[in-house]
Amino acid sequence: CFITLEGLDGAGKSTHVQWLVDAIRGQGLPVVATREPGGTALGEALRAMMLEQPMHLKTETLLMFAARCEHIEQVIEPALARGDWVVCDRYTDASYAYQGGGRGLGAEPIRVLEQWVHPHLQPDRTWLFDVPLEVARGRRAGAREPDRFERENGAFFERTRQAYHERGRECPQRIHIIDSTRSIEMVRRELAEDLQALLRD
Ligand code: C5P
Repeated sequence: CFITLEGLDGAGKSTHVQWLVDAIRGQGLPVVATREPGGTALGEALRAMMLEQPMHLKTETLLMFAARCEHIEQVIEPALARGDWVVCDRYTDASYAYQGGGRGLGAEPIRVLEQWVHPHLQPDRTWLFDVPLEVARGRRAGAREPDRFERENGAFFERTRQAYHERGRECPQRIHIIDSTRSIEMVRRELAEDLQALLRD
């Protein structure tokens, strides 16, 4: 089972990743926790470059998919083939949201790259942690040095959030939009129910 977590920086994604991994492990199931961009030695090197180095939007998009390709081949597919669960912090929906929406590339180039790099590998479930921009910004404040993306302006994040919503409308079975303005406990209750459903499948 392949689960991805998505949302704006500060939406609460990372708060729930470890809980999810522990919950799956608690069921006695093997689970691999990973993230994008990153997840492999090459991917982490590309991540470091992408988060600091200004570059052309097409370059940024291609590097995201380059890191993803390596990640799929080296980590995700082998894990799924072994029968492990995979929990991934961001995946291709983030490319639709950030490069496609936030940066304004549009969805089509992302669709083309998705078709080329992983025509068949979609998550079984995606949790999209959704909060208004002000909430995300408040939660990010003072957390750590902002990276190149986190230094963007409000309009960028609004486009990113809208593109995430668009993904939610396109893939309503897979993508569950989680109202992440609620307390951690409330969110967790919803996640636990959804996880039970996945465990039953
Ligand atoms: O989720 P995390 O903080 O690890 O993401 C690292 C940065 O990369 C974030 O600022 C995120 O906005 C950005 N990112 C991106 N496009 C992607 C994936 C992540 O701009 N496809």
